Amino acid sequence: MAKKNDTIYIGCHLSSAGGFLSMGKAALSINANTFAFFTRNPRGGKAKEIDPEDAKALRDILEREKFGKLVAHAPYTLNPCSAKENVRAFAYEAMSDDMKRMEYLPGNYYNFHPGSHVGQGVETGIEQIADLLNRILTPQQSTIVLLETMAGKGSEIGGTFEELREIIDRVELKEKMGVCLDTCHVSDAGYDIAKDPDGVLTQFDKVVGLERLRALHINDSLNDVGAHKDRHAKIGEGTLGFEAIKRIVHHPKLVGLPCILETPNELPGYGREIEMLK
Ligand code: FE
Ligand code: FE
Ligand code: ZN
Repeated sequence: MAKKNDTIYIGCHLSSAGGFLSMGKAALSINANTFAFFTRNPRGGKAKEIDPEDAKALRDILEREKFGKLVAHAPYTLNPCSAKENVRAFAYEAMSDDMKRMEYLPGNYYNFHPGSHVGQGVETGIEQIADLLNRILTPQQSTIVLLETMAGKGSEIGGTFEELREIIDRVELKEKMGVCLDTCHVSDAGYDIAKDPDGVLTQFDKVVGLERLRALHINDSLNDVGAHKDRHAKIGEGTLGFEAIKRIVHHPKLVGLPCILETPNELPGYGREIEMLK
């Protein structure tokens, strides 16, 4: 068995507008040792050309400063189980292009929202999501693709651990797949991660397997357990609370995973939350 990494990796979502090196510098400025970024405009689809020198400059920082894995985020408009053919086609185009772009930062994570089936039914949705992954994943890629746990808002898939398991079950290259657990989303989905983290992790382990859990989105929630709303709050300003969130970040079964803050903050606010949670 590999030696357990007991470093706390914590960072936040950063703007990719200034390129890779500028994200590395922003992360360092707030004592982050991991971060997340959108691979392209979160609401649209257009991706900026990658400058290989810029990517190399970030890789140097990541190595020198011993960063944990980065957790890139797919655009919100990516929906592999839309009822619309052109939306599903965009999901394929964007994700396959993102896989190529991710190889400029090899060995990191790429997280996406499994999708909303918009009335097609969960079963069809799960099949379409798995089908997309089976067309995209290759044995050569160094990126691990993560399904994000969702709040179960509307027709979102991924609001239960069982749905995530069913997607992974249908993917051929399972070694390229993992899960990113969002604390706000799982709580909204009905898993009481604040009051019973051990119980929720045991359930996750039984259904999906803890070895699949590769990253965490650390958010407080504006709503109660099971609200199916998905509204993030600053750490300590929501229904989960600071103590509960700090326990999750330092949970012995989770230490070593990248923890990404997606709270409503600018850079200084993220810096304070990182300080609080370390
Ligand atoms: Fe997300
Ligand atoms: Fe999230
Ligand atoms: Zn969310």
